[in-house]
Amino acid sequence: MTTEKILDVKDLYVIYRTDEMVCHALNGLSLYIDRGETLGLVGETGAGKTTLALSIMKLLPERIGFVEKGEIYLGDRNIMSCTSADMRLLRGETVSMIFQDPMSSLNPILTIGDQIAEVVELHSNLSKREIDNRVDEILGMVGLPASRKSEFPHQFSGGMQQRVVIAMALACEPQLLLADEPTTALDVTIQAQVLQLMKGLKKKLNTAMLLITHDLGVVAQMCDRVAIIYAGEIIEIGTVGDIFEGENHHPYTVGLFGSIPNIKEDSDRLHPIDGMMPDPANLPEGCKFHTRCTQCIKRCYTEAPRDYSLNSHTIKCHLMASIHGWETT
Ligand code: SF4
Repeated sequence: MTTEKILDVKDLYVIYRTDEMVCHALNGLSLYIDRGETLGLVGETGAGKTTLALSIMKLLPERIGFVEKGEIYLGDRNIMSCTSADMRLLRGETVSMIFQDPMSSLNPILTIGDQIAEVVELHSNLSKREIDNRVDEILGMVGLPASRKSEFPHQFSGGMQQRVVIAMALACEPQLLLADEPTTALDVTIQAQVLQLMKGLKKKLNTAMLLITHDLGVVAQMCDRVAIIYAGEIIEIGTVGDIFEGENHHPYTVGLFGSIPNIKEDSDRLHPIDGMMPDPANLPEGCKFHTRCTQCIKRCYTEAPRDYSLNSHTIKCHLMASIHGWETT
């Protein structure tokens, strides 16, 4: 089967600079997503998940967030050399983003029909009547009746608002969808509905997706591959099978899985990962996880591990590489 990279992030370094400090949010992060594929991005708060999505959209906070180094390709286009005008066209048409809180994406004083029409109008030469028909069609796609297009966001429930946001994000059938915790703000039954909807639409439109979440259950259900992020680096990446069923894992991944309750296990306590993520303004030498790792070896304190791979599975850990004799990539 031939694959085509829709997103290719290469050695990306992003900082947030204020008068007081420089925070190193992404530190040489690399990953790719193929056409139609879903990659889950999992990690703790502050690991760099949203910074990556904002970098891909070129929406880092002005005068604070900067790409220091690296490249981001959307298809064959390096967005590092795109102007603001280029990005306005790429957003919606090539890449779209869904945020956690639907109300942060919706304009409270415009009807939902007008908001969807605005997206379609910006990216097409359709007549007013054709745009109107397209709005009805898009609302139908996300299971909302066209008769509600003249209503305002506050007249919809949280789940319905997120459906409208998904409709806007997919209105121009982008090649890549960035979904940043898209169901975290919704209750559990609505979460399942929205995830099912996204899965169906993604398949129908063959859209690739970066699904940012801290919910490993959602990852297992939705993703083809999984990337684990820690302190601005991908420390493990592989297929869902590699991560959920494989035997070899980065110690941080082991800790992540260990901190989830297991209904089949008779246990009095959960096993959280001790310690905190390092201060991004003052990252440690060597492996960034060494301050919390229970399996440190001498070189972990001074030497940053490289990516070691076996087939589709890559881990950034000295110990795993030396035990299993994996190759450097
Ligand atoms: Fe732990 Fe060393 Fe592996 Fe880092 S490189 S995860 S400190 S064993």
